[in-house]
Amino acid sequence: MRSLQTEIEQRGARIFELVDRHPEPLFSKAGFYQRLMALSMRDERFKVQMFRFVDVLPSLRRSGDIVQHLDEYFTDMRNGFAPLVRTGVRTAKIMPWISGQLLRWNVSGMAHQFIAGKNPDDVMKTLRKRHEQKIGFTVDLLGEAVVSEKETDEYAARCLELLEHLARETDGWSDPLDGGAGLFPVVNLSVKISALYSQMNPADPADAIAHLAPKLRPILRRAKELGAFINFDMESFSDKNITLDLFKTLFTETEFRDWPHAGIVIQAYLRDAEKDLVDLIDWGRARRTRFTVRLVKGAYWDYEKIKSTQNGWSIPVYLQKPESDANFESLSRVLLENESIVTAAFGSHNVRSIAHAQALADELGIDRTRFEFQLLYGMAGPVKRALVEMGYRVREYCPVGELLPGMSYLVRRLLENTSNEGFLRAKFSENASDEILLRDPSELLRENRNGVLPRSTVMTTMITTSLQDRHLALGGSLDTPAGDSYENAPLTNFALPENHEKMRAALREMRTRLGREYPLVINGEKLSTGKTIASINPSSPDEIVGAVTEAGILEAERAVQAARDALEKWRWTPFEERAQLLKRAAAIMDRRRFELSALEVFEVGKPWTEADGDIREAIDFCLFYAQQVRRFGRPRLTQQVPGEESYYHYWPRGVAFVIAPWNFPLAILCGMTTAALVTGNTVIMKPAEQSAVCGAMLMEIFEEAGVPPGVLNYLPGKGSQMGAHLVDHKDVDLIAFTGSREVGLRIWESAGITRPGQRELKRVICEMGGKNAVIIDSDADLDEAIVDSIYSAFGYQGQKCSALSRLIVLEENYDRVLERLLSAAASLRVGNPEEPGMTVGPVIDKTAYERILNYIEIGKSEATLAFQHQNVPPKGYFIPPTIFVDVKPDMRIAREEIFGPVLSVLKARNLDEAIKLANGTDYALTAGFFSRSPANIERAKAEIEAGNVYINRSCTGAVVGRHPFGGFKMSGGGTKAGGEDYLLQFVVPRVVTENITRHGFAPEEAPLYRDEFRVRS
Ligand SMILES: Cc1cc2nc3c(=O)[nH]c(=O)nc-3n(C[C@H](O)[C@H](O)[C@H](O)COP(=O)(O)OP(=O)(O)OC[C@H]3O[C@@H](n4cnc5c(N)ncnc54)[C@H](O)[C@@H]3O)c2cc1C
Repeated sequence: MRSLQTEIEQRGARIFELVDRHPEPLFSKAGFYQRLMALSMRDERFKVQMFRFVDVLPSLRRSGDIVQHLDEYFTDMRNGFAPLVRTGVRTAKIMPWISGQLLRWNVSGMAHQFIAGKNPDDVMKTLRKRHEQKIGFTVDLLGEAVVSEKETDEYAARCLELLEHLARETDGWSDPLDGGAGLFPVVNLSVKISALYSQMNPADPADAIAHLAPKLRPILRRAKELGAFINFDMESFSDKNITLDLFKTLFTETEFRDWPHAGIVIQAYLRDAEKDLVDLIDWGRARRTRFTVRLVKGAYWDYEKIKSTQNGWSIPVYLQKPESDANFESLSRVLLENESIVTAAFGSHNVRSIAHAQALADELGIDRTRFEFQLLYGMAGPVKRALVEMGYRVREYCPVGELLPGMSYLVRRLLENTSNEGFLRAKFSENASDEILLRDPSELLRENRNGVLPRSTVMTTMITTSLQDRHLALGGSLDTPAGDSYENAPLTNFALPENHEKMRAALREMRTRLGREYPLVINGEKLSTGKTIASINPSSPDEIVGAVTEAGILEAERAVQAARDALEKWRWTPFEERAQLLKRAAAIMDRRRFELSALEVFEVGKPWTEADGDIREAIDFCLFYAQQVRRFGRPRLTQQVPGEESYYHYWPRGVAFVIAPWNFPLAILCGMTTAALVTGNTVIMKPAEQSAVCGAMLMEIFEEAGVPPGVLNYLPGKGSQMGAHLVDHKDVDLIAFTGSREVGLRIWESAGITRPGQRELKRVICEMGGKNAVIIDSDADLDEAIVDSIYSAFGYQGQKCSALSRLIVLEENYDRVLERLLSAAASLRVGNPEEPGMTVGPVIDKTAYERILNYIEIGKSEATLAFQHQNVPPKGYFIPPTIFVDVKPDMRIAREEIFGPVLSVLKARNLDEAIKLANGTDYALTAGFFSRSPANIERAKAEIEAGNVYINRSCTGAVVGRHPFGGFKMSGGGTKAGGEDYLLQFVVPRVVTENITRHGFAPEEAPLYRDEFRVRS
């Protein structure tokens, strides 16, 4: 008996023989597209610019805009075929109208390489042709990027229409292969789940299923009546479990339980694909009705890698191409071995993967009429033809729709076709030999393990080198950036079910602990004054989260004394020991992560992911500052000069008074506190009254981490009394404040007065509010701009200092943006954040509630109320997300910080006016800009006045070390929490110079660093 590998090679060779009989280039459409792809494969930078240009083109309305973008994207190309491109751009500029039309025509031609038709009628032309060629179809309706429930309803309605149309038009078509027709209906529709629910949140699969199932049932019902087949496509990893659960839920319902014409996709590039497939098969056996699995490698490889790396998650996909290939083969085996319950559809263009499935099916004695091969429209035409000739069933995946909604599909295909590792490129563009193309992927992996460098690793090395070259060319240094000196703590990945369970358990457990009392901590002693401050749950104001002892003037005095006494020892404690304290605190927070998140849900009304983000940030502050203190902890030589040495180093400022807000109850309190501690200051920590229990937790964590008595003191109390007393105190040397402009300015002023007996000029680190603007340019990607603007404005109820409150929209786009914005806001989930997946919870307390409602009334009198959410819980401090339009820059709602879910929309004639509007405020904290014009993006980077400017992303969610955070003007004193120079605010610099010459003799060189100066203990 011949080995499987021999069989595979033989089948592969046969396919290649048939393919080579009708030689065809990689892309069936020659000309423009062919040339662009060839260039893209030769030059990575051209490829990036090219794909970006293709991405923006459909949204450009005027020919002049098209040529302008062409110019911006390509004229500064420096290498390779730059002269060619530049000549093209110059020519285009001479006749913009003709060139614009020509480019549009060519790019839509390119899109039609992959999009089988603009609409149901159009697609039928393709399907008829394929039918003649004995190729079946599955049709996919483009447009998965939905931002509102209105758009999802439209998508569902279009799916139904398409189904009807296909059934009508294919009436009488027969199965190309006799025998398997029962398994393979002619009409086959592929649906994308994400297009059917706009508020899908991986933390809340139950909610997603509750919304998706009613949308899908009518489609399934009709498909069943029409004898059609429905396939659930698989998208990104975060939606995978929801898609699988939804599939199982729906097809277990009585109505669909015995219906065999349902399919789902398994992505072999996922590490947990085998487990999912085995679970599905078990489910199928229990259900006792056949179903289909389309096995693919997966289309979101780059995205999954980027997203996981950004969030610190373990990457769910394999990192070496042969791993995905080998997994595809082992999953093929699982599928074919379970042929009695599951029908296999192999979705691949890779001849090795295809040949493997064929050989294996033969080995297992499975008739070729009982499974099928599926390939994408516009790709690998010769392979499809060869398979038909060999008598296999072939189905083509045919996307239908307009170019704009189809853009993300098109970009996925372009990436796939130009990927260094892709089969199609290797075969049809690089003419790799059959032998190489048919190699056993498991064998390749074994070779790699034995030291042969996989190709992906080679690529990474090459890219890194060129980045460094570019950096050097720009005059930069190769010093490691501050943010790279450590790795951020990961966010919790709520796509993983075990994390839902942990969070639910933490919420249950926290509920049992509500109402406890928490003492003050001064000099390591727990104290009670008999007076308490109750912290309430804003979702349910009659629920007391905890009561903290209220400190008065007496306790404030005791705390200052304790901090002063502890200072002498703490300031001489080696910085490494202080850094270790922070690291221990971070480890404790990590251990208690879900418990702390649960507390935030109750105490400050944070939705799950927001609470988790806050804990992550607190951990990051500890680790980042611990790392940063090492960068300047040791005295450093100022200059190498013979006979003398001068060392630059830092002393702590003294006693720090930390005043924190409630909106990031752990992170901001922890950030200011740890910055002070690690630099050798002692600290009096005053949390906001509304989040005093979170403050008590932080104290507890530092006590467990071993903070010495007096070094950190926990002192909740009234800002206006105890707080003001400490601000004015002669023995407080530093005030770190984050909060409102009103209080911040008072502190700034008061701290400027030198009191009798005061040793130091007080340093005030003051971070205040914002009136943050986001500009949407006329060429912006609205799918992203709307989702990110909604999140920036209404995430955590608009109570982040970074939140968007003024949306500035370019006139040209205004109506379209507004329409989508309002319906997206209407789709938001508002409710108690104990429920996972809520985007908008309650505002913090009654005062905030009344103040925001008052602003809404002001808005109604000044501008036009365009939207107010209708579905808000009656109990608790819930404010409906609200949007005003016709807002003018001098109106109060456009000038004053509201700190709630209220968004003002302003219209701008052009970018000049938009930037002027954005900058026309007292504040300069965060800002955002959505655009696909490189020139406009450069302008925004240069001209927008804000401490943090975000391009093409939300304007909230700064990450420690990556986005050092803080503003200027009335937003703050220009400090950057989580940045490399932040700790310098907490120290005074000092230089010690010694003449090291003795009678004309001196050492040749002084060391660059020396040990810390220490007093004798
Ligand atoms: C009919 C059909 C339907 C499809 N439906 C879906 C779907 O619902 N969901 C979906 O996600 N995709 C889907 N796809 C797309 C499919 O995932 C890609 O077309 C496919 O991955 C390309 O694989 P290949 O075997 O044709 O090519 P190959 O060139 O052999 O494989 C390319 C694939 O390998 C993987 N890969 C690339 N580089 C690496 C690396 N360094 N490490 C590990 N793996 C790597 C990626 O998945 C990449 O797409 C479908 C494809 C077809 C043909």
